[in-house]
Amino acid sequence: MTTTVLISGAGIAGPALAFWLRKRGFAPTVVERAPALREGGSAVDFRGEQMTLLKRMGILEDIRAKEIAMGSQVVIDSRGKKIAEMPSVFFSGEVEIERGDLTRILYEHTKDDTEYVFGDWITGLDEQRDGVEVTFANSEQRRFDLVVGADGLHSGVRRLTFGDEERFRTDLGFHTAGFVVPNHLDLDHLGLICSVPGRTVMAASGRDRSVLNVSFLFASDSLEVPRRDVEAQKKVVMERFAGMGWEVPKLLEGLKDADDVYFDSLSQIYLDKWSKGRIVLLGDAAYCAGPGGSGTGLAMMGAYILSGELAAAHGDHEVAFARYEEKLRGAVKVSQKQAAGIGTFLIPKTRFVIGYRNFLYRVLGSRPMTKVFTWITSRAANAATLENYDAPVAAQR
Ligand SMILES: Cc1cc2nc3c(=O)[nH]c(=O)nc-3n(C[C@H](O)[C@H](O)[C@H](O)COP(=O)(O)OP(=O)(O)OC[C@H]3O[C@@H](n4cnc5c(N)ncnc54)[C@H](O)[C@@H]3O)c2cc1C
Repeated sequence: MTTTVLISGAGIAGPALAFWLRKRGFAPTVVERAPALREGGSAVDFRGEQMTLLKRMGILEDIRAKEIAMGSQVVIDSRGKKIAEMPSVFFSGEVEIERGDLTRILYEHTKDDTEYVFGDWITGLDEQRDGVEVTFANSEQRRFDLVVGADGLHSGVRRLTFGDEERFRTDLGFHTAGFVVPNHLDLDHLGLICSVPGRTVMAASGRDRSVLNVSFLFASDSLEVPRRDVEAQKKVVMERFAGMGWEVPKLLEGLKDADDVYFDSLSQIYLDKWSKGRIVLLGDAAYCAGPGGSGTGLAMMGAYILSGELAAAHGDHEVAFARYEEKLRGAVKVSQKQAAGIGTFLIPKTRFVIGYRNFLYRVLGSRPMTKVFTWITSRAANAATLENYDAPVAAQR
């Protein structure tokens, strides 16, 4: 009989897992809390070994078709004066795409042979000897062989299976708000970065020249804002960035009207074990690294390895979950270590550190240093090796 797998979350990890599970003979169902695919978020990039994965999935061409092809990122001061310039490979990897375009591509590649249920979520998980009884907020109770929590940083499956989020979440001391406004700066494949102590604004325009992708990042020790209260989140950003120079007042005006705001803490997730019985976590739910940690690539790597191990173990989930974790832990460690220090680069807290960061950017941005910086920024992406699992393999129970 075909192994049924319930995946919670249609972000990146969820659809990527559905993709590979279908190829390997499993029957995935994806349940997503939002009423439709969430296509927000800033750019995500791929590099090194992750490029092999995209080729293996056969989605590299689709990604190239939506490629941002960003040029340099220029650091400016609050009067708009250029301080340093970094080549595109630093921030944009080998190929870069809007997160929303990526989730759409993964969805389009899976929707015909995967059951997607939008606007619903898991409320109860009752593991039994030969399956998991699952209750939902809006639909009938169902039984699945396996359940995967691919529902992000604030995973519901993790809470139901392992306990409260606070036990596993380490906040890095920053928040981010990402949104889109009209490109009044007329940037063309160019990104601008403006920092004052504890606050950074990034604005970039790539493939779609009519819009600016804006990120506000700020130091935020012990800030708690209701997760689904967008107006409260906007208010916090308005207050934190009040009085900042450059184009910030105009960008804040744009925030008032923005309808797709991504607001969250920069946090990491640490668990001693990613699975319990028939339930396993994937992507940010299991090992969120935060920006600069190659989290999107790692979520997709994890999906590939988890499905490959499930097939290789002929559905023996205990063996598969243990091997998945064993094979990915090393890469996650590199990724989380790299992202833990990102605050110094993205949101320096003092004038001195801003000066130091800008100095480093100037040095690393110079042509002879490009290879060194590329090596540094590719470490996380290259930390997981892609095994060549034989596909498709029929999954047996
Ligand atoms: C709309 C959006 C915008 C983002 N923008 C950025 C960004 O600008 N910068 C950045 O660094 N990271 C961003 N992220 C996070 C980034 O996508 C992830 O770090 C990374 O890609 C790993 O993906 P993931 O699939 O594990 O998690 P995510 O991409 O976060 O996907 C998780 C999915 O699970 C869904 N979900 C949550 N709870 C439940 C539940 N209880 N039941 C069912 N479904 C649930 C969410 O709606 C989401 O679709 C964003 C995530 C989202 C959802």
